[in-house]
Amino acid sequence: MPFLPHKFVDHSHSNAILSLIDQPDPIKICKKVFGEEMGIVPYIMPGFELAKKASEVFDKNPNVKGLILLNHGIFTFANNAKESYERMIKYITKAEKELKKKSKFIRVSKYVEKKITISLVANLIRQQISHKRK
Ligand SMILES: [Zn+2]
Repeated sequence: MPFLPHKFVDHSHSNAILSLIDQPDPIKICKKVFGEEMGIVPYIMPGFELAKKASEVFDKNPNVKGLILLNHGIFTFANNAKESYERMIKYITKAEKELKKKSKFIRVSKYVEKKITISLVANLIRQQISHKRK
């Protein structure tokens, strides 16, 4: 049996997905945002082991619409290209909406939206150095 039985598979390293999941307790965040619609695959270096793990996660719940790969990205799949693509957009949009909510994630998006200047970077480095000395 193939790892994933679907005819079409989309994969991306979406910034919104990565910003959402590269946080403490990513499994809890995924469950909250995607419910049971997405399988969660722990981080494994890309290769055969990752493919095997992804297959295991899928086999546990073949009703999932895609997989979230921790510290990596997102897969969606379907039996036609349009549906697989639309699922990709749907789950990335869910991640974007979650990031916009007033929560602890707001700090991340603030940095992303702020225009980065040399003096801002210098200030951040200065703060980090002074924290380490204390
Ligand atoms: Zn990838």
